[in-house]
Amino acid sequence: SAIRKLRASFISTVAQCVVELAQNSLDALATNIEIHVDMMKFFIQIIDNGTGITPDDMEKIGQRYATSKCHTLEDLAHVTTYGFRGEALATLAEISTLEIISKHPNCYDTYCTILKGGKRLQCGPTRSSKRKKPGTIIIIRDLFYTYPVRRKYISENAFTNELENVKKSIESLALVHPQVTFTLVDASNDIKIVTTRRTATSISTFRQLFGSSLAQNLESVYAEEDNIKFEGFFSLRGFHTRQHQYFYVNKLLISCNKIYKLIDEIFNQSSFGKKNYEGLPLESRSEYLKYKKSFMTRYPEKYPIFFIHLTCPATIYDKC
Ligand code: ADP
Ligand code: MG
Repeated sequence: SAIRKLRASFISTVAQCVVELAQNSLDALATNIEIHVDMMKFFIQIIDNGTGITPDDMEKIGQRYATSKCHTLEDLAHVTTYGFRGEALATLAEISTLEIISKHPNCYDTYCTILKGGKRLQCGPTRSSKRKKPGTIIIIRDLFYTYPVRRKYISENAFTNELENVKKSIESLALVHPQVTFTLVDASNDIKIVTTRRTATSISTFRQLFGSSLAQNLESVYAEEDNIKFEGFFSLRGFHTRQHQYFYVNKLLISCNKIYKLIDEIFNQSSFGKKNYEGLPLESRSEYLKYKKSFMTRYPEKYPIFFIHLTCPATIYDKC
């Protein structure tokens, strides 16, 4: 039961669960990822057009350390996928009812397996017409059913927060994967809350997500040195909230506050930060004047929008 607790804390929110599933779809090279979340029912469904799962792997999936991404120590050094430990589905198999339906291109049949409470209830070819083209559907029912207190907390207090967190995490994945079409649907009312169409650059995904008024006045940056690639964009003005700041290493969003503060500082010392709101369109200037008194005294700093993506060899940093 100690192990159980430890593992449940690895996925302790709906957002973490959705991220793990979406990362698996990305690892499977999906270009179309559709996610349905019904927060009240603790239900998640994700549909992708990735490489699918072989029938052999289907039998092992959901077991602890069952991964197709990393087999030796040597592999670990070169892993370029999000996953490499085989923990997420094993954890989900214990804390929910987990159904996996997958069609592998080398295999005529579509396979299905269902796990609950860490036990496999079913595995084999399926007549279900749900999946004919290669790809995978994963359905989570009754997430956290073994944790009634957590469920009660989420449904009573954190419901809107949690959906917002799911939205934010899909947005941040979509930004760093512009070539993937993402759809996030609130399954309780069938409303799409995130949609991106596959495109060439992160800046156009940013425009799709947050609108062209925020996306104007964004400056692209690019640099490359010693195997490290630095690319992205930042705003030429500061905002009074920290929304829309994204820093990634090898497509993984980094949540270390120190880095974000440092970038804010550099921005505020740069000519862009110092220049303040000079030369802005009138409407932004009046917005600035309006907020100046209240915000500038309380929050003298301004926060730029930025999207920074460092790409470097997996060997020069610690993935955990
Ligand atoms: P990891 O990602 O660390 O390998 P997971 O528990 O997240 O571990 O997934 C276990 C295995 O299940 C993966 O290694 C992969 O082989 C398979 N898998 C999971 N989701 C998908 C998917 N959407 N498409 C193809 N294979 C998948
Ligand atoms: Mg994974």
